[in-house]
Amino acid sequence: MEQEMAQGKLSVIATPIGNLGDITFRGLWNLKEANVIYAEDTRVISKLLTHYGLRKSVFRLDAATETKKAAEIIARLEAGEHVALVSDAGTPGISDPGARLVAAVREALPEAKIEAIPGPSALTAALSISGANMEQFTFLGFLPHKKGRQTALKKIAGAEYPVVLYESPHRILKLLKELNAVAPHARVTIARELTKIHEEVLVGAPLEIAETLEKKKAVRGEFVVIIEAKN
Ligand code: SAM
Repeated sequence: MEQEMAQGKLSVIATPIGNLGDITFRGLWNLKEANVIYAEDTRVISKLLTHYGLRKSVFRLDAATETKKAAEIIARLEAGEHVALVSDAGTPGISDPGARLVAAVREALPEAKIEAIPGPSALTAALSISGANMEQFTFLGFLPHKKGRQTALKKIAGAEYPVVLYESPHRILKLLKELNAVAPHARVTIARELTKIHEEVLVGAPLEIAETLEKKKAVRGEFVVIIEAKN
């Protein structure tokens, strides 16, 4: 126990995926109490901190710097500091940096406390309003852009359980057209701009959703895509 205290603490904190109200009291408390915050983009976290009247030192830890920054964070934990880790949105480590840092800390400091401060994730938010049977599902995050993409699409088309993906606005139409090629009768749910003003859920065959999106002036926002090939 004493050793745990001496080695500091790493709090992995979920932050809002749009609506700044979506952070837990415990999340805010830990952001306030931490000696230092590591964030994927310091500007994004600064907006959240300002909203809640918190002034803190924020350092950058993104996918490119995660491994390099691990040594620095391990040194802080060894010195007894409380370190908070956040990503741009939602839960760190879910299609976001975090896992490599946590693994490095576990290896270097097996006794150090690493705590989860749970909260929003686009994944669980989308699932909760999809209406799809999510007793079992596969989460694939972002599909590979090139190598392995066709294989992944075929797997999705043959999947027994729903498959959940993340997708960016400039690739969503391409994805829907690819899904139409491999699984034209799939039931697809897209959850767009969750917790934001333009939150929207569309359900239909891949081509139907593509047509609906194409009617809009511009395809904007962030998307979670749920594909039920066997519906
Ligand atoms: N760690 C995050 C989480 O727990 O949800 C995910 C980060 S990942 C880099 C970003 C992707 O998550 C976006 O491209 C989109 O697919 C999804 N996403 C994030 N915020 C969203 C929102 N408000 N509505 C819909 N999808 C969202």
